[in-house]
Amino acid sequence: MTSRSLPRRVVIAGAGLAGLRTAEELRSLGYDGQLTLIGAERHPPYDRPPLSKKLMTGQLDDTTLREDLSGLGIDLRMGVQATEVRPGVLQTSSDAHAFDALVLATGARPVRLPGPGRQFVLRTIDDALGLRELFKKGTTLVIVGAGWLGAELATAAAGRGCLVTVLEGGREPLATAIGEQVGALTRPWYGEHGVELRLGQSVRSVEDGGIALADGGTVAADVVVSAVGVRPEVGWLDGSGIALDNGVAVDGELRASMPGVFAAGDCAAFESARFGRRLRFEHWDIALHAPEVVAANVLGGSVRYDPVPYFWSEQFGRMLQYAGWHGDGSRLLLRGDPAAPRWAACWLAGPRLVAMLTVNLPRDLQQGRRLIESAVRVEAGRLADPAIPVRDSAR
Ligand SMILES: Cc1cc2nc3c(=O)[nH]c(=O)nc-3n(C[C@H](O)[C@H](O)[C@H](O)COP(=O)(O)OP(=O)(O)OC[C@H]3O[C@@H](n4cnc5c(N)ncnc54)[C@H](O)[C@@H]3O)c2cc1C
Repeated sequence: MTSRSLPRRVVIAGAGLAGLRTAEELRSLGYDGQLTLIGAERHPPYDRPPLSKKLMTGQLDDTTLREDLSGLGIDLRMGVQATEVRPGVLQTSSDAHAFDALVLATGARPVRLPGPGRQFVLRTIDDALGLRELFKKGTTLVIVGAGWLGAELATAAAGRGCLVTVLEGGREPLATAIGEQVGALTRPWYGEHGVELRLGQSVRSVEDGGIALADGGTVAADVVVSAVGVRPEVGWLDGSGIALDNGVAVDGELRASMPGVFAAGDCAAFESARFGRRLRFEHWDIALHAPEVVAANVLGGSVRYDPVPYFWSEQFGRMLQYAGWHGDGSRLLLRGDPAAPRWAACWLAGPRLVAMLTVNLPRDLQQGRRLIESAVRVEAGRLADPAIPVRDSAR
């Protein structure tokens, strides 16, 4: 603890995972002052990863994160939009809240394609329940974007009997996230599950009845879903004086440029000492754990946040897990046969492992994540050998 005066009024903007976790952490650290949680949605905080997985396949209807919210002693304001920040005051669509500390946790919003036709996105539980209704046998569905979300939606929709086409602008699926070379290894999965994957397709617009392509072609569809990425939900902070840089620009302690203001989760771009640059992730694990650091620092601490990022995706009957960040210039190494049900991709910077993707290999991922964390030197030959445990590749 430092000598900074401790807050008595903490306001959190955004009632998703990062917002709720911040409230939980503050209370678990003994904070007993006023705590206000403001969320634009009507629903109390809920989990998003199942929306494209178990909820979309019909195995789940509700992903509420915490049933006993009242136990946290929060002033919960749902259906309320935070609209403006001035020093010490958060303005919302209904009233103004004076704060000693403000935590920005407004997440991200999906990018929409141009055009007058109806298009669906998937970010909220309302989006998910609406979309699930349309995933019926024989429905012609076009998903634009073969990223993580596009692949998961294609899996769920094909499983429900839809006729699914995925249009991807890039040369391979998942290329933005894991590069073309590794992304290409996931390409056969689409056909195996009866999904048509069309690469190098530049979409011009969504029209009534389907998609207009930039080359003049069209793709007919009953339902169009755009899964072309998200942007941090920070437009409402323009003009507030809070520095923005692909999200709320925060330092290694998750402090924004305005005193007393912090940010966490999908909306926060933080200084990563580990990777030597400002980074923003759309990872559940970041929204889960960054609030531990925010809460400690709101209460006067000086805790640094420098995670090995972690993400997972369930697609085409496989569990994909990714830890680290491979950035530019790292060297790719495959571990195992990508045609087999289990394999991994490793990225090395010099003699160190900086990122790892595993397919159905959770133990390898866990061990790889530790190697990335400790930044030990590894022997590439041993790492590439699936018969040798990942941890035994450390020199
Ligand atoms: C369908 C789907 C599947 C996913 N699957 C995975 C996965 O498999 N693995 C993984 O690691 N990650 C996954 N993610 C990502 C993960 O869910 C996010 O990283 C996580 O939800 C981020 O939490 P957050 O609290 O920062 O933001 P959010 O969950 O977006 O919450 C932010 C909240 O703030 C509210 N808000 C926005 N603006 C305002 C405002 N001005 N005023 C008040 N409230 C506001 C929003 O309405 C929202 O409820 C998935 C995401 C989606 C959408």
